[in-house]
Amino acid sequence: MNPLNRLVVRTLPLVPKAVVRRIASRYVAGETLDEALALVRSLNAEGCMATLDVLGEDVTREDETEATVVAYEQALAEIAARGLDSNISVKLSALGLKLDPAHCRRQFGRIVAAAERHGIFVRIDMEDSPVTDETIRIFFETRERYAKVGIVLQAYLRRSAEDARRIAAVGGNVRVCKGIYVEPPSIAFQDREEIRSSYVALVELLLSAGSYVGIATHDPLLVERTLAVIGRLRLPKQAYEFQMLLGVAGTMRRRLVADGQRLRVYVPYGDAWYAYSVRRLKENPSIAGHVVKGLFLGN
Ligand SMILES: Cc1cc2nc3c(=O)[nH]c(=O)nc-3n(C[C@H](O)[C@H](O)[C@H](O)COP(=O)(O)OP(=O)(O)OC[C@H]3O[C@@H](n4cnc5c(N)ncnc54)[C@H](O)[C@@H]3O)c2cc1C
Repeated sequence: MNPLNRLVVRTLPLVPKAVVRRIASRYVAGETLDEALALVRSLNAEGCMATLDVLGEDVTREDETEATVVAYEQALAEIAARGLDSNISVKLSALGLKLDPAHCRRQFGRIVAAAERHGIFVRIDMEDSPVTDETIRIFFETRERYAKVGIVLQAYLRRSAEDARRIAAVGGNVRVCKGIYVEPPSIAFQDREEIRSSYVALVELLLSAGSYVGIATHDPLLVERTLAVIGRLRLPKQAYEFQMLLGVAGTMRRRLVADGQRLRVYVPYGDAWYAYSVRRLKENPSIAGHVVKGLFLGN
């Protein structure tokens, strides 16, 4: 990141919320389920599938998890009622994983039961390393009673190859991503190329074992390298899908869809849009330009 962008990242908390909202609106579908569903409909019309994410991560009280469960139950019912091509992605910390894993399991169980009623797939997002083990454990437990559940592995974690082997052994459905949290070198690769190599190796390991893989990246090199693996393994397009975040790498997304690739867009929505937007902006290489433009366009 160049020095100007670094400065902007550091001063982002000082940028008025209204400005952040405007420049970040491309990353978030809106505050309401209706806005999110309208966006999913337009993505479906473009040939993209979707996954809905109700924004809201670490909670500080168990009762805060209730709204998230209800929001997912409503989302699942509406996806089914409107015949949309979308599944859901869930962060277990929003259900209290870091407060009380038993409470989290109960709340997640309610979401899974609603998904099962509508036959909709549930992806468990992967969060920071203190919860990796418990997240994978909950994935395995859930899979015992509902097959349409998937997990995420992060290529930067040194442990991921071992996790991939365990999950591939049961034919688990895995999204592979680079990983977004800051993790220490003792457990995570730091070098760009090492992370890329780990990413391609994970995708190859999982696909070779017959797992369905969500290839979640906007890195053109990784798209190219994973397509080479897929070509070498002679896999049909139904064996995997690409996944991208809303508002990122639109040109590459359209090119992949035009090539007949399955592609799913991650669609976040909800009240907690601010924290998510700031995280996306911090990752954006042209953040300074966007923020300055946002400030000049006024509130
Ligand atoms: C569908 C999906 C689900 C994910 N789920 C998880 C998860 O469960 N757990 C987790 O830890 N991480 C998750 N991630 C985030 C992921 O781990 C990476 O942090 C993120 O995708 C950036 O990595 P990249 O592979 O796109 O490569 P990068 O090298 O970071 O990005 C490649 C290029 O994409 C563009 N780009 C990337 N981000 C932005 C942005 N915000 N704005 C504009 N351009 C951008 C840039 O041009 C950049 O050069 C997910 C990502 C996706 C796409």
